Amino acid sequence: TALIEMIDVDKEFANGTVAVRDMSLVINKGEFVSFLGPSGCGKSTALKMISGLLSVSNGSITVNGHLAGQSPDASDIGYVFQEANLLPWATVFENVYLPLKLRGLSRKEASARVEEALAMVGLAKFAKSYPRQLSGGMRMRVSIARAMVTKPKLLLMDEPFAALDEMTRAKLNDDVLQLWESQGLTVIFVTHSVFDPSICPAASSSWPPVRAASSTISRSGTAIR
Ligand code: ADP
Ligand code: ADP
Repeated sequence: TALIEMIDVDKEFANGTVAVRDMSLVINKGEFVSFLGPSGCGKSTALKMISGLLSVSNGSITVNGHLAGQSPDASDIGYVFQEANLLPWATVFENVYLPLKLRGLSRKEASARVEEALAMVGLAKFAKSYPRQLSGGMRMRVSIARAMVTKPKLLLMDEPFAALDEMTRAKLNDDVLQLWESQGLTVIFVTHSVFDPSICPAASSSWPPVRAASSTISRSGTAIR
């Protein structure tokens, strides 16, 4: 069944830039989809519209039956950005607890879920560490734990590992694939480079689980599932 339906979506910014034109696609529950294309082709804009961070100019987007950004349950969506964006003065535990804190859960109520999310990314032992004590790859895994702690149905990842070295990126790609397989998630993974082993099937037979090329997104960007 469809989790996301985009119909004839355009996005024109106030300065006249048309970032997305006539984008239509259906993403089913449990699918793993990559938005692939050169920088500036509109991938981030599409992702932000799906999450409701940006409004559409024309067309419509529904996520789980609700217009984008209007789901009664904001925890339906987890978002991971290129930068880990952790609070530097807060511990790993506190960073991952934050989304639950914002939803009104006490530390005590939240602690089991925070620990579970940290275990999911292999960082159970680092709850008391501070971000500066961790490597770049570990910080990204903390940010994935923070996105997963609300148990979202949909995980949006915007060039999440672009700033990391190839080895770390390959490892994190595997971690995301495992999360996807084990958690019954739907994932949209944005990347700009066709040379990234994470999206080039020729470089890796298992990542991502490419099934068929589909919907075109503006200016030579492509969605792959
Ligand atoms: P990608 O993620 O594929 O690199 P973006 O979605 O970030 O592309 O950007 C698509 C186009 O929209 C680019 O030309 C970019 O400069 C432009 N753009 C992005 N955000 C804004 C904004 N807030 N105002 C004006 N133009 C923007
Ligand atoms: P980088 O982005 O710096 O390559 P990595 O995630 O590959 O980061 O980790 C670099 C180092 O951090 C590893 O060699 C290891 O010593 C340590 N490390 C990373 N994850 C863990 C973990 N779950 N437990 C213990 N040490 C870890």
